[in-house]
Parts: sequence; C-alpha cells; structure tokens
Amino acid sequence: QIIDNEYFKHLIEDFKLSVQQQDVTIINKVCSAEVLLRIDKFHFTTALLNILENAVKYGTESIQITIETKHTNGEYSIVIKDNGIGIPEKNLPLIFDKFYRVTDGNLHNVKGLGLGLYYTKQIINAHNGTITIESQLHKGTTFTIKTPIN
Ligand code: ATP
Ligand code: MG
Repeated sequence: QIIDNEYFKHLIEDFKLSVQQQDVTIINKVCSAEVLLRIDKFHFTTALLNILENAVKYGTESIQITIETKHTNGEYSIVIKDNGIGIPEKNLPLIFDKFYRVTDGNLHNVKGLGLGLYYTKQIINAHNGTITIESQLHKGTTFTIKTPIN
C-alpha cells in the first residue's frame, strides 16, 4: 500500500464528512514523500480515524487538528496534534489500556468504551510501529506514530 498525499487527502476528506456539523479545522502538513508501507489498509486507517475522532470528542469549541508526516531514514512518522482538553500527566501511562477512560475531575461526560486507543496501539504495534502520546491539560494532545519503512 502506498501512503502518500492521496492517502491522507482521502482520509481527511472522509473524516471531514463525518464531522460536518462541528467547527473542526484540519491543518494538513503531510510531506510530499510517497512511501511504500506494508499495511492493512482497513485497520491502519481505522486506527488513525480513532485518533482524529478523539480529537473531536475531547475538543473544545473551536477544534484544530494538525496532521504532519515525516519521512526520515528508514522511518515514517505521523504526528496528530489537537488543541483539546488535554490529559492530566498522571493518567497518561494508562491511556492505551483496555477500557481505560479519564473520568476523574468531571473532565468530560462524553460516551465511549475506552477501547479506541487500545485498538489503535494494537494495530500500530502489529505493523511493527510505535505510538506515543504527549499531552498538556487544557492545552492539547499529540500522538506520534512511527513505522519502519519496508
Ligand atoms: P472509544 O472506545 O469509543 O474510543 P474512548 O474515546 O473513551 O472510547 P479511547 O479512545 O481509548 O476511549 O481513549 C481513552 C481515554 O483517553 C478517553 O476516554 C479520554 O479520556 C482520553 N483521550 C483520548 N484521546 C484524547 C484527546 N485527544 N484529548 C483528550 N483526552 C483524550
Ligand atoms: Mg476514542
């Protein structure tokens, strides 16, 4: 499967259609590189959409999502950054756990199972990739996915 501007263009278009009613701005910083990644397109795409959907679910009034990709020596990285409610530092180590949700402090009353990020991590790991999170409460969250180029 070739991962390129076209792939991300379609991903962003599909995603935008699903959030039409909301105030969501997507900043596309996808690099121009055409990279051949051996991926399961359905699952890989669903994993990325999970992160984008979270950015909307846990966003504030004016949601801004930046998607940036980089192609460096033997590695392809995808960085998805939002300006949402953020996650307290103490909750970050558990964020990829099955059924884990941040509920303390009445941070949000959005429904979910706590499975999205668990699934996303399983899928990225199954592609020999890694996913990491950085977050600042009330500022936003950034996910970084790195996959080896085969
Ligand atoms: P679902 O199974 O429907 O995806 P969920 O969204 O609650 O449910 P995850 O996607 O696994 O589950 O996310 C786990 C928890 O991490 C969320 O409940 C939320 O508290 C927190 N979280 C995830 N993404 C973000 C984000 N972009 N900004 C702030 N908090 C987030
Ligand atoms: Mg989710």
